[in-house]
Amino acid sequence: MFDLVHVWVIRQLTLGEFASRQSVLSKAALMAAKIAVFAYLLNIVGHLILVAFGLLPYPLLPALVVATMLTPPVSFIVAVIAYSVVGLAIYDLGVSRQRFETLSRTDMLSGLMNRRAFLDTFELARGPVALILFDIDRFKSINDSLGHKAGDDVIVRTAQCLASALGSGEAIARIGGEEFAVLLTGQGTERAMQVAETIRASVEGRGLTIGGRQVSVTVSAGVSEGLAELGFSELFSGADRALYLAKASGRNRIVHARELVEASMDLSGPDNGQAAGSRARFTA
Ligand code: GH3
Ligand code: MG
Ligand code: MG
Repeated sequence: MFDLVHVWVIRQLTLGEFASRQSVLSKAALMAAKIAVFAYLLNIVGHLILVAFGLLPYPLLPALVVATMLTPPVSFIVAVIAYSVVGLAIYDLGVSRQRFETLSRTDMLSGLMNRRAFLDTFELARGPVALILFDIDRFKSINDSLGHKAGDDVIVRTAQCLASALGSGEAIARIGGEEFAVLLTGQGTERAMQVAETIRASVEGRGLTIGGRQVSVTVSAGVSEGLAELGFSELFSGADRALYLAKASGRNRIVHARELVEASMDLSGPDNGQAAGSRARFTA
């Protein structure tokens, strides 16, 4: 019995049956009606048993009239009050639990997912996925020249740029200071590179004014792809090394992880004096 109640309360805390105050009250009315019918039947059966054993100290008919007039309304009112008070308390707890859950998965500055929520989303992904890591270029100098608050504004505006370029269906997270991650599911290389390039171009082209000053902001990105079943570390490592190459190649560009292999082959080739990074630029 205790276990049943325990499981029921936990289920309601996830706002199962108590999705709103209205649903608590309608549930309370329904439950109280059932309880009133049950109490009335118990009352009648109790009287009949007493009559059968000759133990009823007063006449049956007036007793049944009183039972009919009192038991259903009294038990209904008591049950509806008790159920509503407990139900509304559980509903309030469920709402704050949901708020806390949302907060614990949201990056407070940008409003995007945080790292933990992003990893959870990745865990649920199956099949081919693409991971794009974005990093704001020379962000430290923005902080140094305009101040930390202006730096925060740049982070927020860059997050907005990502969100508006991608729409609400995609997983976008701020996974570090000025670093963002995007997870695309079931899409090929072409699409991942196009998405990354669209975002890179929109960040570069939007012309930010912060504190009355025009600030030029660019991002670099690393892209890697594979089956989600390979695990996050594998994909992250590829995208991170690609991002490193994008930085080393001059920033404000996109590099795909496969270019790392090409770049290392170029460096090890016999007649190749060209720096790997200089060939690494993605052109859409
Ligand atoms: P690169 O082009 O190589 O990425 O250079 P960078 O200057 O962007 O890279 P670096 O990693 O050296 O600098 C990141 C800076 O971001 C350092 C840190 O002080 C700053 N930072 C981290 N988190 C925040 C934040 O929440 N707000 C602000 N304003 N700055 C932050
Ligand atoms: Mg960084
Ligand atoms: Mg940076």
